Amino acid sequence: MPTTWYTAPVTRIESASPRVRRIWLELPADAPVFDFQAGQFLTMDLPIGEKRLQRWRSYSIASRPQPGQPIELCIVHMPGGLATEYLFHQVEVGTLIKFKGPDGAFVLPQRIDQDLVMICTGTGVAPFRSMLFDLDHRGWPDRDIHLIYGSRTREDLLYADEFLDLAARQPRFRYTATLSRIENDPSEPWMMKGYVHQAYKEEYAHVRPDLKFLLCGWTNMIDSAVENLLIEMGYARDQVVYELYG
Ligand SMILES: Cc1cc2nc3c(=O)[nH]c(=O)nc-3n(C[C@H](O)[C@H](O)[C@H](O)COP(=O)(O)OP(=O)(O)OC[C@H]3O[C@@H](n4cnc5c(N)ncnc54)[C@H](O)[C@@H]3O)c2cc1C
Repeated sequence: MPTTWYTAPVTRIESASPRVRRIWLELPADAPVFDFQAGQFLTMDLPIGEKRLQRWRSYSIASRPQPGQPIELCIVHMPGGLATEYLFHQVEVGTLIKFKGPDGAFVLPQRIDQDLVMICTGTGVAPFRSMLFDLDHRGWPDRDIHLIYGSRTREDLLYADEFLDLAARQPRFRYTATLSRIENDPSEPWMMKGYVHQAYKEEYAHVRPDLKFLLCGWTNMIDSAVENLLIEMGYARDQVVYELYG
């Protein structure tokens, strides 16, 4: 099928944490429908290089699928990174962004028949936010879902209020935030000092066939988690799926 390219203006930008921006794109009413599934990503063609591969960058969609509604992205600044320097220092409300998609197979199955453990760091939370709020909207499965989210400090945590609100409303959803750069153990029951790896290793030490782990983020976290889950802990290959950001 030929690729459809879209051009949409940035309609809103918010700072989500010291290094992360939320950026909303809104397609004009006469544009082709951008029909995505929660967990998928789009690929931007940015004016940052001559060659296609220099210019293209993918971003997971953080908002839930709602045809006709703005698409939210959540992007971390990488100092010296071509795309994020552009997105943080040149893009403003009104800038037109060219993108294609949706792409990606990091989506939930039609029927969820395993408990899900979602593990991410930083902006790796984007596809999980889309999935969780899509499930919240469409009807929660008869299964437990646990989001384990790692960041450095409390102010780096993205969407914490939303996940806490979801956990308060949805008894089958649990939110654990691990903070690696804090001095003391936090007093809130949903927070712990350390890295995501400690959280799932403690909680899911006994291998269960009815569990699926979904991972999203950068190589260092994903490589360690895959090794821990498959080799150290003994989970089966098909119980671990991931989306690698780079
Ligand atoms: C499917 C997919 C979805 C993605 N979704 C998102 C998203 O929702 N939000 C988002 O912020 N990024 C996302 N990314 C990463 C994004 O595509 C870019 O790679 C990122 O924005 C850096 O681009 P850059 O041009 O600024 O840096 P580059 O110059 O391309 O990056 C330099 C190097 O740094 C590495 N790198 C970049 N950022 C980090 C980081 N935070 N931690 C560790 N290493 C890093 C890259 O892998 C690369 O090797 C996604 C990537 C993929 C493949």
